[in-house]
Amino acid sequence: MQHINEIYINGRFVQPHGTEVMELINPSDKTVIGAARLADEEDARQAIAAAKAAYKTWSRSSRQERAAYLQAMHDAVQRRAPELVDVMIREYGGTRRMCSATVARSANSFLLAIELLETFDFVRQAGTARVTMEPLGVVGLITPWNANYGFICSKLATALVAGSTTVIKPSELSAMQTRLLTQCLHEAGLPPGVFNIVTGRGDTVGAEITHHPDIAKISFTGSTAVGKQIARGAVDTMKRVTLELGGKSPNILLDDADLETAIPQALTAAYFNNGQACLAATRLIVPERRLEEVKMLVRKAVAAIKVGHPGDEDTMLGPLVTQKQYERVQSYIRLGIEEGAELLTGGEGHPEGMDHGYFVKPTVFVNVTNDMRIAREEIFGPVLSILTYRTEEEAIDIANDTVYGLHGYVSGADRERANRVASQIVAGRVFINGLYDEPRAPFGGFKQSGIGREFGPYGLEAYVEPKAIIGYDVPVHENTQR
Ligand code: NAD
Repeated sequence: MQHINEIYINGRFVQPHGTEVMELINPSDKTVIGAARLADEEDARQAIAAAKAAYKTWSRSSRQERAAYLQAMHDAVQRRAPELVDVMIREYGGTRRMCSATVARSANSFLLAIELLETFDFVRQAGTARVTMEPLGVVGLITPWNANYGFICSKLATALVAGSTTVIKPSELSAMQTRLLTQCLHEAGLPPGVFNIVTGRGDTVGAEITHHPDIAKISFTGSTAVGKQIARGAVDTMKRVTLELGGKSPNILLDDADLETAIPQALTAAYFNNGQACLAATRLIVPERRLEEVKMLVRKAVAAIKVGHPGDEDTMLGPLVTQKQYERVQSYIRLGIEEGAELLTGGEGHPEGMDHGYFVKPTVFVNVTNDMRIAREEIFGPVLSILTYRTEEEAIDIANDTVYGLHGYVSGADRERANRVASQIVAGRVFINGLYDEPRAPFGGFKQSGIGREFGPYGLEAYVEPKAIIGYDVPVHENTQR
């Protein structure tokens, strides 16, 4: 049992003012593994005050100083990578492969940030004006539970490059992972107040950050419903917002696709992170004339998925994060059957012999139409819907007939044709023949999948504000990044 009794404010671990204590449960076996005392609104205010006090100095720090701290953060995360992976498996239930990749990506985000410090155009020319890209002030970073380290590290690294100080509110479901990550970041020795981490509930700590006048921007990753609340709340103080929200991503199989490769890839993209991924390709759109072949290969590929303890090297699908999430996914499986979709494989309940944790059967529906709720709503579990089309145009229409626009996928042998289809999918990222990691490319969504982008220069643009100085030849202050 681990008792977490601290949050991180002004460079120190301190007891929260909040008194609520939350049990932490291992999703693989439902045992209680710890308890966390949560922060409240007063803690959020103290964290904001600390970040505000640190802003003046941090925003004027040199590129070299920032790069040195980012390197130290990278090294600290890297040093404790095996521990970070183990805690993520224990508290979250992600597979070892997924958790290792998440930790590696998290550490790497600090190196990418150093690269940005060196390559981003902080000073530009517009006519006779000199335009400098200014930091915004204190930023609030609100993150979900489904890749806790990754979101914290990439948002924090980008904010620090921009010259902002930060108040981070991770999901309360990730308290144990956050505690260890905070220890790593603390070891990097940044000046007090530059980053503060207050684990607490959304309707208390999150709401305080959303409404507080000293927060200039919020970068939020989470559900579309909460994203809308944040956007509404942020408007009173005209906060900038970056919103990374939900998805219902289409995966178009073109009729020349090599199905032996494309089907396993489709399942990997659908069940990514135990199906708890915003980028999950949950609508597989297949040519009607190849449906029987698709069904046969999907059954075969699902049978090959090893559901098991997430700590085992060969596990491909672990449990869902909580009982609540398990029940939510079960209710969508029942709903699919009620709506008239046909269960191709999987279904309600636990996989055989796996009722000790929040394990769900990898599930696939066929005969799904795009008006069914299972095709329209984000399920956030390993549930795939297969829809059919007759013409390429119809496939694209189905793909785009959604309120979301986060990701899209296309599989096909003819690259030119696959490219043409990809260019017509309304989404922030489209993958051809696979799922790739490209941390320098913009990440974010069209429509109700969000506002703005993260990663690389596109992500940094959202943390800075252009300021034009016209009529002077202003010397560069040598103590700043510019
Ligand atoms: P969530 O929206 O419930 O919570 C996200 C964060 O917001 C948590 O820290 C939560 O405590 C906080 N929050 C909740 N209510 C709040 C409020 N009123 N004010 C301020 N903060 C509040 O999401 P979740 O269940 O943690 O994560 C799953 C969701 O996140 C899915 O919808 C998924 O698609 C989305 N997601 C999106 C991306 C992306 O990059 N687009 C990535 C991962 C997850």
